Amino acid sequence: MTNRILIITGDATDAKTLEDVLRKAKDGPFDIEWVTRLSDALERLRAGGIDAILVDMSLPDSRGIETFDQLFAAVPQTPILTLSAEEDEALAMEVVQRGSQGFLSKGHFGTYLVPQSLRNIIQRKLVEETLYIEKERAEITLNSISDAVIGTDMAGNVDYLNLAAETMTGWEKEEARGHPISEVMQIINGATLKAEPNPVELVLQQNKPMGLAAGTILIRRDGNKVAIEDSAAPIHDSNGQIRGAVIVFHDITAAKEMTLKMAHLAQHDFLTSLPNRVLLNDRIAQAIGLAERRDTTLAVLFLDLDNFKHINDSLGHAIGDKLLQSVAKRLVNCVRNSDTISRQGGDEFVILVSVEKHAEDASLTADKILNALAAPHFIDGHELHVTTSIGISVYPADAYNAEALIKNADTAMYQAKENGRNNYQFFKSDMNVRAVERQVIEAQLRQALERQEFVLHYQPKVNLDTGMITGAEALLRWIHPELGVMLPDRFVPIAEACGLIVPIGRWVLREACAQTKGWEDAGLKPGSVAVNISALEFSRKGFVEYVRDVLNETGLAPRCLQLEITETVLMRDAKFSTAVLQQLKNMGVQLAMDDFGTGYSSLSYLHQFPIDVLKIDQSFVQDIGSRNGNGIIVSTVIALGTSFKQQVVAEGVEEQMQLAFLKSRNCAEGQGYFFSRPLGAEQFAALLATGISAIVGH
Ligand code: C2E
Ligand code: MG
Ligand code: MG
Repeated sequence: MTNRILIITGDATDAKTLEDVLRKAKDGPFDIEWVTRLSDALERLRAGGIDAILVDMSLPDSRGIETFDQLFAAVPQTPILTLSAEEDEALAMEVVQRGSQGFLSKGHFGTYLVPQSLRNIIQRKLVEETLYIEKERAEITLNSISDAVIGTDMAGNVDYLNLAAETMTGWEKEEARGHPISEVMQIINGATLKAEPNPVELVLQQNKPMGLAAGTILIRRDGNKVAIEDSAAPIHDSNGQIRGAVIVFHDITAAKEMTLKMAHLAQHDFLTSLPNRVLLNDRIAQAIGLAERRDTTLAVLFLDLDNFKHINDSLGHAIGDKLLQSVAKRLVNCVRNSDTISRQGGDEFVILVSVEKHAEDASLTADKILNALAAPHFIDGHELHVTTSIGISVYPADAYNAEALIKNADTAMYQAKENGRNNYQFFKSDMNVRAVERQVIEAQLRQALERQEFVLHYQPKVNLDTGMITGAEALLRWIHPELGVMLPDRFVPIAEACGLIVPIGRWVLREACAQTKGWEDAGLKPGSVAVNISALEFSRKGFVEYVRDVLNETGLAPRCLQLEITETVLMRDAKFSTAVLQQLKNMGVQLAMDDFGTGYSSLSYLHQFPIDVLKIDQSFVQDIGSRNGNGIIVSTVIALGTSFKQQVVAEGVEEQMQLAFLKSRNCAEGQGYFFSRPLGAEQFAALLATGISAIVGH
């Protein structure tokens, strides 16, 4: 490789001698450039490409140390040899101190030593530079990695720490240097909490790499503990002799936390943090094992919230999620710590209860839950009411494993729903038969609309003073091809559960309005028609618009339509209900609160809902004639309705004596078998024509 040498001297003879000897040199080849002035030299150097400089300290434009200093400042990496007269050796030495690579004595330029030393200094400079860069690179690398690195000598004393090691141990490099590794990097076993030998010591003894036992804890200088993972290795010199050791370690606290978090997530529900299905199955299996050994029993409670879907649909998932969290909290307070509450997804919860002696004890927990959920939940300005239906299965009476226990509890839960919700049912073996029947009904319901198997029956509402028919309630009947006439109690809950109630309800509304309009057109006086609206319909978006469309299409006047909504449905979210009711009210439709007295209701809302009619539930009316009944509730409701200027309709009037009582309390209207059973459309038309004789005779 050719080296380019810049000779700077005003002495032409010296320049010539040097050039000659360099050109001839075996160590070459050298390319020679010669300038006489420092300023020319500096300009040449700026262009680059010079590998070494030979400079005379006295130049036409510069003298002495100054000459060197300027060159050195310009090209600190390029080796510089000075050319000095023998008497100037002191100066030459000083220049060496300041960074020159050496000097050549004038008068000896002709020897082979000149090219040789030039070659040497160029070589040495290159090696130095490479080493420097390598060291820099290593240092920067070690300081930029997040792993801590500590180096020790043969005695196990620290001689190096990178930045991460400084942060993790709390020792600074300079402080730590010379201290034993066991002091700078104190470690203990995470399980036994006993001091552990530092792996560096083992590496130095055995001269081979080592990994550290899992679960090692580093004690920082400030006493804090950090979980670490590490490995150590010996360092060898060029002869393969061990000269020390390096240990590399990192903080695994975050990784450990992440592992724990993942494990938690795998077994818990993200929304409520309750155990999930996986963990529950585990716990049930354990509980079964324990129950076997101790000869005790256990119960599995399957809960499904009764009206969650409507709340979720009408108010959105964010509120739905908060409601589930609120429910979860209450459930936790209903059971012992040893019991397990899990969320199965959606609005379903399963609770494992260990029972000491009698399986029936599980009903205490079920009662507690029904009570705990009865109070409203206040969420984002909404007062939400949600109830739950609970099915209970018991080990070993109902099933022997987790899966079957949960399945049977689920079946019992469906029974609880059919029994009117907000109650609990123990599993009975015939429920599985019923569950199958339920599925069959659901499948047939899906086709019933198309096959036109639905009809409406009409039951008159009667003015108790005059005996005149004021209107009718439309009641749905399913003419089942095999089972005959089916009453709504048998299929409406199923239709609600699977959402079919929405299209069915739309059909009812249209049919009732069209029929009533038809009677009007025929000159009969049907008054208003009352249509029952289920929770799902009421909370659906677009319900109000649908009602408006049906009225427009059928031509029925809005005041001739009355919508019956149960108290329970209205109370689920009073704020939302008020808004929907108001829109209907503005349209001119009449509103009735159905089954009044059977649900949970607060007077303040009763006052606030724009309701026209209160329908007293038939159970209270029937109570009038019974042995213990004194009709006090009926009297109260009538008084309440009067004070709120709501019309009161008594349902389920069956006897003359009930009628007399109602009249004595000034109840406006009545409905019941005493006046008429629900009738088919034609029969009802006939009744409209003739009127009801029951009251006339009174
Ligand atoms: P509801 O709205 O309280 O309807 C009154 C129920 O009482 C009717 O039962 C009716 O036949 C019955 N009833 C009337 N007078 C007497 C009486 O003197 N004594 C006795 N013991 N019962 C009487 P039905 O038709 O079986 O309907 C039951 C429930 O099904 C209704 O209760 C209503 O909530 C629901 N339902 C009926 N039709 C529809 C409908 O089209 N859509 C929806 N969503 N629900 C409906
Ligand atoms: Mg009704
Ligand atoms: Mg009713």
